[in-house]
Amino acid sequence: MVVVGAGLAGAQCALKLRQGGWAGRVVLVGEEPHAPYDRPPLSKDVLLGKADSTTLDIDFAQLGVELLTGRRATGLTPGVLHTDGGDLPYGSLVIATGATPRALPGAERAHLLHTLDDALALRGLLRPGLRLVLVGAGWIGAEVSTAARQAGCEVTVVEAGPAPVPGALPAEVGAAMAAWYAEAGVDLRCGVGVAAVEPGAVLLADGSHLPADEVLVGVGARPATGWLAGSGVELDAAGAVLVDERLRTSLPGVFAAGDCVSYPSARSGARLAVQHWDHALRSGEAVAAAVLGAEEPYDPVPYFWSEQFGRMVQYVGRHAEGDELLWRGGPQDAEWSVLWLRDGVPSALLAVDRPRDLTQGRKLIERGTALDRARAADPAVPLKGAVA
Ligand SMILES: Cc1cc2nc3c(=O)[nH]c(=O)nc-3n(C[C@H](O)[C@H](O)[C@H](O)COP(=O)(O)OP(=O)(O)OC[C@H]3O[C@@H](n4cnc5c(N)ncnc54)[C@H](O)[C@@H]3O)c2cc1C
Repeated sequence: MVVVGAGLAGAQCALKLRQGGWAGRVVLVGEEPHAPYDRPPLSKDVLLGKADSTTLDIDFAQLGVELLTGRRATGLTPGVLHTDGGDLPYGSLVIATGATPRALPGAERAHLLHTLDDALALRGLLRPGLRLVLVGAGWIGAEVSTAARQAGCEVTVVEAGPAPVPGALPAEVGAAMAAWYAEAGVDLRCGVGVAAVEPGAVLLADGSHLPADEVLVGVGARPATGWLAGSGVELDAAGAVLVDERLRTSLPGVFAAGDCVSYPSARSGARLAVQHWDHALRSGEAVAAAVLGAEEPYDPVPYFWSEQFGRMVQYVGRHAEGDELLWRGGPQDAEWSVLWLRDGVPSALLAVDRPRDLTQGRKLIERGTALDRARAADPAVPLKGAVA
C-alpha cells in the first residue's frame, strides 16, 4: 500500500488503514523534509510567533508505517510509483499530493505561503515598519494581514475583485469584512489587479505604484497533480483528480483524497473540489475505508474556518447562485451570521463569532430542515428554534 503526499489527507489515510486492520506494508511518501504537519496554524500561531512546529500527533514508526520524507513522486505507471529516489511498486495507491499556491505571472519574486518553511521564513521578515503588500484578500490575505499588523508592519492588500473573498462569497458579504481591514489599519484596495512586482514596488493595473519591502501572493491553489501527466489517471480541466463517490480514480487500485481531488456530491448535485482542512481529514479517513472495502459514499457537508482580525469565521455547507441570502444581525454587530436558503431550506451558513449558529446550522443543513424566515433572521432566536 503506497500513499503519496504526506500531508493531512495522506497521514490520516495511513493511520486509518492501520487502525482499520490493514496488515500489509504501508509506505507514506512525501516531498517535504518534515514529518506530516498541520497547515492552518501556519498563517495563525506560527506567524504570530506562538508556535514553531505543528507536527501531527501520529507515531508512524509505532504504527508500522514507513515514512519516506524528501521523496518526490515523478510519475505513475500501473503498479509502480516513480519517485526521484527510485521506483515503488504498489498493490494499491492513494494519491494525496494536495494543492500548491498559485503564483502570479510577473511576480516570481513574491512570497507564497504553503509550507512550514514558508511560514517561518515570512515570520522572520515581519518587523515594525516593514511595507508588506499582500496580493489577494482571501482567507490567507486576511490571516497574514492580522499577524503582520500585530508585528507592526504597514500592510496594503490588493484585491482584483470588488470585495474580500470574491471567489467564495457574494460581494455583499465580503463588503462586511472589508471594514475589518480598515479597523486593523490595513489599506485594502479592491477592484484593481497587479500588473507587475518590481524590486521595491508593486505596479497596479491602474498605473499606481505601491512601495513594497516584501510581497506575498495569496490567490488560491491548484491541485499538485502535474506529476500524473500521461499516467492514465483522469484529471479535470483544473487539474483535480476525478474520483467517484468512493474516492476511486480512473486507474484500477488507485484512489485519491484531500485538496487534489474532485468528487461527486449527491448532496450538492455537483462535483466538488474542496481545499480545506476538514475535507482533508475526512477524505483521508474515507479513502482508507474505501481501500479496506467500505461502500459508503463520501459526501459530508463541507466545513471550514478562518481566524482573522480577532474574529472566528466559520462556513458550513455550500451555497449556489440563486440561493436566498438571509442575515442574522449585520456588519454593525460584533457578531453576525448569514444563511443561504434554497426553497426555505438552508444550503449554507457563514458565522462570525457565532459558533452556536454554526453547530445548529450544520445539523439543519445535514437534515435539510426548512426554516421560518422571520425567526431565522432574528439573531436572538437560536437557529434550532427557527424551524418552520
Ligand atoms: C497557510 C494555510 C492556512 C490554512 N488555514 C486553513 C484554515 O484555517 N481552515 C481550513 O479549513 N483550511 C485551511 N487550510 C487548508 C488546509 O490546510 C488544506 O486543505 C489541507 O492541508 C489539505 O491537506 P492535503 O493533505 O490534501 O494536502 P497538503 O496539505 O497540501 O499535503 C500534500 C503533501 O503532498 C506533498 N506533495 C505534493 N506533490 C508531491 C509529489 N509529487 N511527491 C511527493 N509529495 C508531494 C506536498 O509537499 C504536501 O506535503 C490552510 C492552508 C494553508 C496553506
